[in-house]
Order: sequence, then structure tokens, then C-alpha cells
Amino acid sequence: MAAPLSSSPEDRAGALLTIDLAAVVENWRLLKRTAGPTCDVGAVVKADAYGLGLEPIVAALKGAGCKTFYVANLNEGLALRAVLGNADARLVVMHGPNPGTEREFAAHRLIPVLSTPRQIKTWRGFAAANDVLMESIIKVDTGMNRLGLTALEFAGLMNDPDGFAGLTPLALMSHLACADTPAHPLNAVQRERFASALSTFRLKFADARGSLANSAGIFLGQGFTYDFARPGAALYGVNPLAEGASRVIPVVRLVAKILQVRRVDAATPVGYGATFRAPDGAKLATVSMGYADGLLRSWSPSGHAFIDGLKVPVAGRVSMDLTIFDVSNVPDSALGPGAVIELIGSSQSVDDVARAAGTIGYEVLTALGGRYHRRYLPAKG
Ligand SMILES: *Cc1c(COP(=O)(O)O)cnc(C)c1O
Repeated sequence: MAAPLSSSPEDRAGALLTIDLAAVVENWRLLKRTAGPTCDVGAVVKADAYGLGLEPIVAALKGAGCKTFYVANLNEGLALRAVLGNADARLVVMHGPNPGTEREFAAHRLIPVLSTPRQIKTWRGFAAANDVLMESIIKVDTGMNRLGLTALEFAGLMNDPDGFAGLTPLALMSHLACADTPAHPLNAVQRERFASALSTFRLKFADARGSLANSAGIFLGQGFTYDFARPGAALYGVNPLAEGASRVIPVVRLVAKILQVRRVDAATPVGYGATFRAPDGAKLATVSMGYADGLLRSWSPSGHAFIDGLKVPVAGRVSMDLTIFDVSNVPDSALGPGAVIELIGSSQSVDDVARAAGTIGYEVLTALGGRYHRRYLPAKG
């Protein structure tokens, strides 16, 4: 029998990811207050809750009173059902059923979002053949041209007495393309198209609810929130707006361990491709985190991190498991054994890291790898 490990998971990991569940709950409450009392503010937990861990995130939000959860596909829906068990909650699968998977939606009580005439027809056929009276959500496209019925398809189905026959639609859904930019004219256009489609839809289904807003959509004001809001990013501390101070609080802290520090005694190239030249006397720290951990390679030229509040730039290219930083300005006393470097936290937000890598906070979070030691700070009861 192997000897028991004497080290802790934290000792063994190269980097530590701390996820503040109380902050997630606080962000959800802020979104709820902003959306107003008549709006059901759910939680989008697709992509493993934006990389932060489906199970703990769902448990924290459910504990706070969140009743509606959204994922992208059926596999995520099954995982969500396993986490929620028989809890009193709505589970929505936004991509709807792939052909032949309708049965699993019904068996696991996953509400499908139906976006194409074919999905609607197939779901109707399935519901009729199996005597399933399960709710669905119909999605219309109002200007993003991604998923949803076109205006023509929607009108066609509305005018066809059999178009939506046999369905029990919970809601009509659409998605905003430019909500992160409040002044963008497409926001008002999409809202108008959505309002018009919803009032038409209600001629057939008087109780159908409306769902339009993601995180940024909630901040566009209560004219955009309707009955079901679907925030994701803002829950996880990503600023959903393209510009301006964030209204949500940070959720994630990421620190990595320093494996080695060296002083170079003559100017010398650093890292793959020798793209960076360290000047004579520079001090370099090699850190156990790289692009396999979600530190995007495009971050190399302008990325930086912090040691004890001191800013240190990336030296050369981010590699798979390691990144080198120029720590010439950091006293040796801050670089001893056990020293860590903060990549995301109080000194720089997930949005700051994203900007330096030429991307958005969403991509930084969902790129986070599986090698961290993850620590969850509990939601307050
Ligand atoms: C991902 C997604 C959301 C959540 O968007 P955020 O910007 O993260 O709040 C909402 N609705 C749909 C259809 C989505 O795909």
C-alpha cells in the first residue's frame, strides 16, 4: 500500500484559485434589486459556471433563493439536474434538443429553448406522441442573427394554426447583441422588435412570459428586463459593460507560486523565441502557471502581475506551464520561499487581465484550467 501523502493539495498545486461564493450571492442580489420585484433573476451557469465550478456556484445561488438556472446544452443540463436533484427550480437548456434527445429533456425535466422551426416541429411531435405537457421556451431573433426564429419564420408559425399547436410555452426569449454598450442604437431596435413579437405571441399564449436581458441587459433598465432575466458574467465579477466602472464586486483571486528567482549578470534573452532581452542586473522570477492554466499567450507583450502590491511585467512569452516575470523592482525579502504572485485580485481585476490580453473577462474566466487548487469562500447563511 502506498504511504499516505503528507502534503496538502494546496502544497502540491502550482497556483491557487479562490472563489468567493458570498460575492457571487451579493452580485446576484444586486442584479435582482436592479431588475425590480417582478423579474425572476436566474443564473446562467453554462461552461461550468463560467469556469468557476457548477456545483458550488449553484449551491450558493440556490441557497440565496435563485430559482431558475440556464445552461447551454443537454450534457450541461444533465449535470445541472444532478446537482439540483429534485429542488424546486427551473432548469433551462438554451440550445434546445439535438435531434433524438427530446426524451432526455422530458425525463430530466429540462426546459428546452426552441430556436428553429425544425426544433419546434420535432418537440411538438414528441410531446404529442408521448403525452408530454412540458414547458418550453420559444426563441426569436431580434437583430443578433445567432439563434432564434427569424421574423418571417415567427410570423409563419403564428399564422399557421398548427404552428405552435400542442406546445406549452413558458416564455418568449431573445438575446441582445450590444447590451454592453448602452448607447448602441441596436438596443432600442431589439427591444421594440421583442415587444412586438411578445404581444403577438400573447394573442395565442396569454400567459407567456418574456426574457430578453443578460447581465448587461439588466443594467439597460427595467424596460429591458421583462419577466425572466438571464445574467451570467456579472454574477462572477466580470464587468458586463464595455466601459466604465464595474457595478459588481470581484469574485476571483488567482495567485501563482514562484518557483525560481535569478539575477542575470549580463544582458540576456529570456524565454521561447528570445523575444525579451533582460538588461544586465535584471531579476527574473519563474512562476508555475502558463497557457494550459488559461493565462492567454496573447497576454505576453503587455501582461503584468503584482507581488506585495508591486507591479511586475511578463518577461518574454507565456509558455504552457511557466511564465517569467521581471521582478527587478521587488526586494529579495518578498521573493523568498513560499512567495506568490497575484494575477487576479485586489491589485488587478479579471477585466484588467482581459484588456491586457486583448479579450474580455468572459474568456479569461472560461479559459481557467483544471490544475489550480481551488478554494471556495462560503456564502453567508
Ligand atoms: C451566455 C448567455 C447569457 C448570459 O450572458 P452574460 O452576458 O454572461 O450575462 C444569457 N443569454 C444567453 C442566450 C446566453 O447565451
